Amino acid sequence: MLKFTHQLALLLLVPMVIQLSFLGVIDHVLNEVERDRQQEARAVDSLIHVNLILNDIFMATGSMMMFKATSTESFAFEFHELFENVQTHTKALKEIANSSPERAKELKAFVGIIDDITEALTMAEGMPEESVDLASIRIVGKLQSFIRRVNSTGLRLVEKETQLRKRRQEKQGEVRDQLKHTVEGAALVTVAIAAFIAVGFSLTFARRFNTIMSNTMSVAAGKPLAEPIKGSDELAKLDGVIHTLSRDLTITREKERAMIDNTAEIICSLDENLRMSELNPAITKRLGYQLEELLGSNLISIIHPEDKDETYLNLQKCQGMDTEILFEARVRSQDGKFYFYEWTAKYAPHNDLIFCVLHDITERKEAEKLKQEVMAMVSHDLRAPLTSLNMVLDMMLEGVVGTLNDKGNRMVVLAQQSVSSLISMINDLLDVEKYESGGLTLNYEDVTISKLVDNAIGMIKPQADKKNIKLIPSFEDRQIEVDADRVVRVIVNLVGNAIKFSPKDSNITVAVKTQEVKRGIHELEFQIIDEGPGIPEDKLEIVFEKFKQVGTGSEGEKKGTGLGLAICKAIVEAHGGRVGVRSALGKGATFWFQIPDKRIDKA
Ligand code: ADP
Repeated sequence: MLKFTHQLALLLLVPMVIQLSFLGVIDHVLNEVERDRQQEARAVDSLIHVNLILNDIFMATGSMMMFKATSTESFAFEFHELFENVQTHTKALKEIANSSPERAKELKAFVGIIDDITEALTMAEGMPEESVDLASIRIVGKLQSFIRRVNSTGLRLVEKETQLRKRRQEKQGEVRDQLKHTVEGAALVTVAIAAFIAVGFSLTFARRFNTIMSNTMSVAAGKPLAEPIKGSDELAKLDGVIHTLSRDLTITREKERAMIDNTAEIICSLDENLRMSELNPAITKRLGYQLEELLGSNLISIIHPEDKDETYLNLQKCQGMDTEILFEARVRSQDGKFYFYEWTAKYAPHNDLIFCVLHDITERKEAEKLKQEVMAMVSHDLRAPLTSLNMVLDMMLEGVVGTLNDKGNRMVVLAQQSVSSLISMINDLLDVEKYESGGLTLNYEDVTISKLVDNAIGMIKPQADKKNIKLIPSFEDRQIEVDADRVVRVIVNLVGNAIKFSPKDSNITVAVKTQEVKRGIHELEFQIIDEGPGIPEDKLEIVFEKFKQVGTGSEGEKKGTGLGLAICKAIVEAHGGRVGVRSALGKGATFWFQIPDKRIDKA
């Protein structure tokens, strides 16, 4: 089959060629008509000239006779005027004879006689008036015979022109008929071609186009397509593409459907009145409802009464946004229980629906609740008695309950150490939980770097002294704005770790570097550099996680809880800073944290 573009070109070219041929014929016929019209004009011209010459000759002869008879000058003047007219018309006739061969012979004969007459008239004019002799009589006779001849030649000429005109009129009639037939033929052929194109178009293109259009609509509606169009032209190829597209789309839809049907998440779409228009089977598995029970009913009816208002507001808000929104709301199951769900809602403006994905977070919520209960329990039921115990042990050591012997004293001291470390561990744990749940509020104050570092070193120095470790401060002092107590706690924690893991007689440097990051804002980098065993490179990331101990089980590690660095991280991040460590196994460790030198939202 011809390509679509070739077929189209053919459909346009064929009628164009036919129309052009008709135009050629009409042009030819019109040219002939134009030629005939010119001939006709010449015939009319020559007839006019002949008539005028005949008239003028008679008049001129008459004027000449009168002049000769009366010698009145006005006749001579009239004769000259008419004589000149005759010559002008004769000249025009000669020109016509030259340009139209068909009447040349008759015209030339006529013009020859006129020339003779003008010669005779000239001669007659030249004779003296009183000499009416033989010669003049002869000339007059000659003139009379000329006039008779010119009369008959003129009449023949008129007859000839009349015949020519008649023939031309007949020919013009023929040409008119020819033209009429040509135009009628052209109209007929054009109509036939138009009908042929229309039929051909509807048989080939229109039908195929319709098939493609209905296939396209079927693709959009997810319906089966018509049989593929046969052939190898562009339309057939386009239809092939639509079929492939439809197949791919069907597969994708099936996959999507399977995913929606089998996913654990509840998926639903809501109309503008928050009625459920679509639901996936997860709702039956999760909440026990049959789809028909819920379809068409208002979503708010299965939301926990306390969460209804917020859910309603969130879904309303979602309708005006092009991003998804997240919120939590409890949903009632078929048997009346409530489950916690995390909602992701997204508005689809083209079909005015809100799509919601509901993720069950009941277990997480319960775990959180349990954790809060445990934390409350640890805080009240464990820390309080331990604190009391600590006080009792204190009193025993002070001899309030009687004097202890040396062994008893040693045992109480050991017991007190264990109780103290248990209390500090509980404090750390509570702190971490508090920080992680966002309960950390910073108390910013103006303070100098030296005050922070000196305070921290002062608190930790006794531990360092026990191992004869030298704490070396290194910084340029300046005024900063931070939560001083908490920053001191971070430094104490980091230096404490360094002491725990460093060998005896080593050095620990506490350095602070300042760097301008933005106009007016400096970043402080605190560095605690030790000469201890270091941390393996692949563990550098995880030391800041809760309960993570990454070393080789050294003595220092055994004493810890794995919470100190998590607390440091929470405090530094609350300042808008970052914390990290640079180290390699056996080469010491440099723990660092960067914080801005003033409250960020103030800048
Ligand atoms: P811990 O109470 O165990 O010290 P941390 O959170 O403070 O808890 O530290 C977590 C772990 O990071 C430590 O157990 C140890 O393995 C490693 N670590 C921390 N500081 C150092 C250090 N200066 N040198 C080597 N390892 C360290």
